[in-house]
Amino acid sequence: DQARMPDYLSGLNPEQREAVESVDGPVLVLAGAGTGKTRVLTTRIAHILASNRAFPSQILAVTFTNKAAREMKERIGHLVGGAVEGMPWLGTFHSIGVKLLRRHAELVGLSSDFTILDTDDVVRLIKQIIQAEGLDDKRWPAKQFAAMIDGWKNKGLDPARVPEGDARAFGNGKGRELYVAYQNRLKTLNACDFGDLLLHPIRMFKANPDVLKEYHQRFRYILVDEYQDTNTAQYMWLRLLAQRPEGVPQNVCCVGDDDQSIYGWRGAEVDNILRFEKDFPGAKVIKLERNYRSTEHILGAAGHLIAHNEGRLGKTLFTDRIDPNDDKVVVHAAWDSEEEARAVGEEIEQLQRQQHPLNDMAILVRASFQMREFEDRFVTLGLNYRVIGGPRFYERLEIRDAMAYFRLVCQPADDLAFERIVNTPKRGLGDTTIRNLHDYARARDIPMLAAAADIIETDELKPKARKALFDVVTDFRRWQSLLENTPHTELAEQILDESGYTAMWHNDKSAEAPGRLENLKELIRSMEAFESMRGFLEHVSLVMDAETNENLDAVSIMTLHSAKGLEFETVFLPGWEEGLFPHQRALDEGGRSGLEEERRLAYVGITRAKRRCHIWFVSNRRIHGLWQSTLPSRFLDELPPAHVEVAETETSYGGYGRNPYGQSRFDKQEPFQNSYSTPGWKRAQANRTDATRDNWGTRSGHAVERIGYGESGPRAKTIEGE
Ligand code: ATP
Ligand code: MG
Repeated sequence: DQARMPDYLSGLNPEQREAVESVDGPVLVLAGAGTGKTRVLTTRIAHILASNRAFPSQILAVTFTNKAAREMKERIGHLVGGAVEGMPWLGTFHSIGVKLLRRHAELVGLSSDFTILDTDDVVRLIKQIIQAEGLDDKRWPAKQFAAMIDGWKNKGLDPARVPEGDARAFGNGKGRELYVAYQNRLKTLNACDFGDLLLHPIRMFKANPDVLKEYHQRFRYILVDEYQDTNTAQYMWLRLLAQRPEGVPQNVCCVGDDDQSIYGWRGAEVDNILRFEKDFPGAKVIKLERNYRSTEHILGAAGHLIAHNEGRLGKTLFTDRIDPNDDKVVVHAAWDSEEEARAVGEEIEQLQRQQHPLNDMAILVRASFQMREFEDRFVTLGLNYRVIGGPRFYERLEIRDAMAYFRLVCQPADDLAFERIVNTPKRGLGDTTIRNLHDYARARDIPMLAAAADIIETDELKPKARKALFDVVTDFRRWQSLLENTPHTELAEQILDESGYTAMWHNDKSAEAPGRLENLKELIRSMEAFESMRGFLEHVSLVMDAETNENLDAVSIMTLHSAKGLEFETVFLPGWEEGLFPHQRALDEGGRSGLEEERRLAYVGITRAKRRCHIWFVSNRRIHGLWQSTLPSRFLDELPPAHVEVAETETSYGGYGRNPYGQSRFDKQEPFQNSYSTPGWKRAQANRTDATRDNWGTRSGHAVERIGYGESGPRAKTIEGE
């Protein structure tokens, strides 16, 4: 029997195998980091295909990122030997949502070429709506309301279902009306936001049982990775699709880890795990306990840390990768973030000299502002790096402008795009003209570009504005006529040139202008990978992952949140300081559960490492231009001495410098003192030599107070910058 077992099964342990082979009926795999949950999902799909239980198009598989979806597709190909003939329904909730919606847009009142708005567009739109309601948008900020709507959508709430209290909390009690107005406006614009990518399909399925039934027949198998981070709307969506008539098994397989639930702030409901057995009767729950990823020390450190959380489901994790030569988790101290970046850089170069590829290393930060210091340092060192997730290329000003041109060519009803570029570059179209145009469009309920085409035939505008608008309308007509038959990269270039947009930056004397022009070139280059301008636009609105050149050997820099599911030989975790990690905002807003979510994030961070894990904290950090003195994170106290060592004094940098406010680290010798110290950490401290003590906790005369990094500004001790 063993001999006839397909290759893809032979590497699995018995529990994994059971999870792969239990294809009929609901299965929940609940297991810790690195136990092979994702591998189980991938192998399960391979198994379904190899045993001819379904065609690739009959499998619905949800991953957390687009990158994970691509990787999974590749792995399945390897497992079943040969390329998988398309897995059209393998992707994130959002990307699958778009696909469903493009097919059935008319059922929710959109047309299939609808636009997906990004956060910035949403905020601008909401601002208009708030103003239109006669409310003061200073008192009632659009950004705040955008967040509220997002929260409601994550919970699957249509305007009518938002609880009265919540709805009244905004805009002089007009929250619900504003939400309704917003949805109406989206419809007029033929647009939707991210939340709608889930909610529209849910509405559509509920209102059209025949369509839902079609998908029930199509999706024979449903699989979900990172199940602990699904929100209520995603869960509703999943349950709808997984419904089966009495007696027909629900072939749903979800895998997750409650200890890695890190999107509570975005509406994720870890309770979905607990509800699984209730909602999917007869579910088989499988536990995986053997970790294949990390060394004993890494697992020991992570396990001890996460044990400080209450209300866990509780899991066992073990590894038989026990090797006395394995490094312990190393904790390093640095004077400030510059020194931290320098020291991490040295560590990386040293590993590189020992032939470790950069691809095997990652820096995982708590907040994206931390990235810049590393990026700067790596540029200086000539170290290749890539930023994953984070502030993206596509979010830059010039890219967004260019994209607005492209959007308007593809989707003439996209008023937000129109407003963004109608006077960029400057065409002498002042606020009055735009307002006129706005009113004209509103009154006739037509898009602004169409209104512009109409209004130039009248004498409502001054001759100069009329001429300028005439040119805009003519340009767009021409570009639209080229859309189908001109290669899209060529057309894109043409649009940017003929509109005067490229010239605008050529004539701009600012220091950033050359970089912006380079970015625009890069934008055109990045379009080459797509078949059409529409395909490209869709891609951009969906990308969660930064553009990466997969072939380049490079260190990855990303936030802890985007590191979920990934693994690296060596992981650097900088910025373990109170206020930054745990993050002050999480503590302020979430209290104990906020702290626990931060701790899970720390657990996710440590468990990304296969062999080496380096943690850093600094004594001084500059935030928003202000120097702040910091305390080591309480999470450092929660690491077990048996698996952790404190780095010896780093030699090649620092030691004698003065901080930016003139104090030397030796001005005042104070022992390391952390009000959150636990016996564990005290023991760890006792183990280190006196020589390292300076590095640890020496603080200068000012301030040993908790520092806030919250958006509302520093909460405690702040030291003025240089
Ligand atoms: P996370 O919770 O971080 O998402 P996971 O449970 O999804 O982790 P995987 O990423 O699937 O874990 O697996 C972790 C590592 O262990 C991967 O490198 C995977 O290839 C390897 N692995 C999993 N199962 C086995 C096995 N049976 N034999 C050898 N290696 C395995
Ligand atoms: Mg995984």
